[in-house]
Amino acid sequence: MRKRKWSSALLAASAIIAAAGCGSDDPGTVSGSEVYDTCTTSIADNVPAFYKTYFRCVTITMSGDTVVIKTDGLPPHNTYYYGSGHDKYVAFDFSKGSDYHPNPNTLKQQNVTIQIPAAPKARGLTINAAAVDAKVNSSSNEYGLGPRGVALDGVSLFNPLAAPGDDIEDEKYTFDPYNAHPTNNGAYHYHTTSKGPLELLKKLGKTTNTTPGQAEIEVYGMMCDGTLLLGCKELDGSAPAAGLDSQNGHVHDIKDKAGTVHFTGRYHTHVCTSIGSHKYTPEIQYYDTCK
Ligand SMILES: [Zn+2]
Ligand SMILES: [Zn+2]
Repeated sequence: MRKRKWSSALLAASAIIAAAGCGSDDPGTVSGSEVYDTCTTSIADNVPAFYKTYFRCVTITMSGDTVVIKTDGLPPHNTYYYGSGHDKYVAFDFSKGSDYHPNPNTLKQQNVTIQIPAAPKARGLTINAAAVDAKVNSSSNEYGLGPRGVALDGVSLFNPLAAPGDDIEDEKYTFDPYNAHPTNNGAYHYHTTSKGPLELLKKLGKTTNTTPGQAEIEVYGMMCDGTLLLGCKELDGSAPAAGLDSQNGHVHDIKDKAGTVHFTGRYHTHVCTSIGSHKYTPEIQYYDTCK
């Protein structure tokens, strides 16, 4: 077991080792258990490299051909929603406008398990504007409510559909500066891009900019069915090709900057306001299972 804190000394050492091209000892991956800031990461040896490279603050194991991610859902960053008195509490940010206001909830530790098929099967859907209607329960192919994915920093990913009777375009006014908020049982979650995963990528030396839309690479997380959530860039930093579907999704190999193909022919969505109209996590579940 190796224990490690994020520190500038570590990052400097990481840069030196990375520059030396040290493959299996790359300090940017976790195999075993490590401490980062205030959270613990534990990733089994046989978990695909993608998860070892990009995820922290979670426990990941394999169960047959299924990647099992467990998280307590607690954000590693500061937020108003920790509640006053907590050492990560900060005042609510009203700088985005007078329509913004906190919701009455305080985040609480969760017990989330997301099971992602290593080789997901497509449902064969046509994901057009009629399917992506922003209405809850309008299609049997929608992601359900509650945690339906995990962000790189262990925070839950929810679909873009607000609970019945609400509208996500109204709910967004309770987002903190990380574009997140908790449910009434304290489940803190993202519905869209967030600087949270990008701050993690910065600590891992994979981007210098943490503003969604401007980072060198933008990986946000993984949905329960195997749909990957990216931002305005592909994993190798290139611009996505034209021809995205109505939730900004398409299928191609997912290759990193070094040329490693992490997923072959994988559906993923690009949450990026400059390249499509869909501003949130995917609404329609492309692959057949979500557990
Ligand atoms: Zn929400
Ligand atoms: Zn793409």
